Amino acid sequence: MDTLSVSVLGSTGSIGSNTLDVLSRHPNRFRVFALTASIQVDLMLAQCRAFAPRFAVMSNAQAAQALLERVNAEGLAVQVLSGQQALCEVAEHPEVDVVMAAIVGAAGLPPSLAAARAGKRLLLANKEAIVVGGAWFMEAVRQGGGVLLPIDSEHSAVFQSLPEDPASWPDRVSKIILTASGGPFRTRDPLTLSQVTPSEACAHPNWRMGRKISVDSATMMNKALEVIEAHHLFAIQPQHIEVVIHPQSVIHSMVEFHDRSVVAQLGTPDMRVPIAYGLSWPQRMDSGAKGLDFSALSGLTFEAPDPQRFPGLGLAWQALAGPLGTTAVLNAANEVAVAAFLDHGLRFDRIHAVNEQTLAAVLPSAIGGLDDLMALDEAARRAAAGFVKPWLN
Ligand code: NAD
Ligand code: MG
Repeated sequence: MDTLSVSVLGSTGSIGSNTLDVLSRHPNRFRVFALTASIQVDLMLAQCRAFAPRFAVMSNAQAAQALLERVNAEGLAVQVLSGQQALCEVAEHPEVDVVMAAIVGAAGLPPSLAAARAGKRLLLANKEAIVVGGAWFMEAVRQGGGVLLPIDSEHSAVFQSLPEDPASWPDRVSKIILTASGGPFRTRDPLTLSQVTPSEACAHPNWRMGRKISVDSATMMNKALEVIEAHHLFAIQPQHIEVVIHPQSVIHSMVEFHDRSVVAQLGTPDMRVPIAYGLSWPQRMDSGAKGLDFSALSGLTFEAPDPQRFPGLGLAWQALAGPLGTTAVLNAANEVAVAAFLDHGLRFDRIHAVNEQTLAAVLPSAIGGLDDLMALDEAARRAAAGFVKPWLN
């Protein structure tokens, strides 16, 4: 079997580190071509020592300079690059077979698109890229002729539950049911949500993740982004996507067929499972995850999400019903609001207000392509920043 060459975008993050863990279990099948990060120089240096990539890209120029000095001091063979363009270059490089897109936020869209256009096997964790890029993103994948495999655990579960031939999905599938854990505040008194601190919001009961997605899980905006992601990945109409809270995170999502049969994918909550599946598809390989111990499970429970507690969830369907580009506005607002919250500059329960107000204020018109989308993203960020100010603590 030929060794596959892999670029890991966002290698110092939670998904990036889990990806490297899986790759390290299969040294004869994969080699690391490039690693990328924003500012985490120490961890990147350690990853360069362990995986000897050809390229290490720091999107931040100062961090790249610091990494270069340390790489030279140690005599490592890695070439250090910096900036957006370099991110795209290591994603589309002719010697690369597989790209793990694990940058957080819309910042990951350009390199993910570059990989898609170049026809790579694209493993997409970076859900914001598809929420912003939408139909254009899917078209780039089609034109590039590569494969797009979801890494988000819910979408990997749906993909594993669907028949192999995508052309058969519309005739067979009646509903996609995304499960959600409900996050750390599923049972917290809603009147105390204004007091939530960033560390409380990031303490997820079942998953260890980056800070942005942890806050998104606490507001359930993560699930809203995932509804939009599912709509694009599986070409399914928004009214046929349902969300159910399942606090144990054992069932990762389900597909209902026209005969009302439901197929689900189960497993321990460990992102190495969908990562290994994406890397090995259509085969299977060791992920390092523990197996499910059914006799130790206390029970699997389900409940409907409470719209009062999680008002952000409904914004997915609202944005999908709007003109093209509306989901990019929602994503930009949410990135600004979450960053402000994590910076102690916005109350937790005001994240939704910023998202809602930005959606009402920024109306997309005639989006012709990526440049228009990026301009819309910028406009939405400016508007959202304006809505953050009144609640600065
Ligand atoms: P993280 O914050 O742990 O890591 C993000 C990575 O992106 C880091 O390597 C960071 O250096 C890099 N990065 C951040 N900003 C950047 C920028 N502006 N330009 C270039 N690089 C940048 O995040 P994560 O939890 O690993 O999540 C990554 C993506 O995967 C997100 O889109 C998230 O929604 C998605 N995802 C994560 C999980 C999970 O379990 N962590 C599960 C499903 C989906
Ligand atoms: Mg998910």
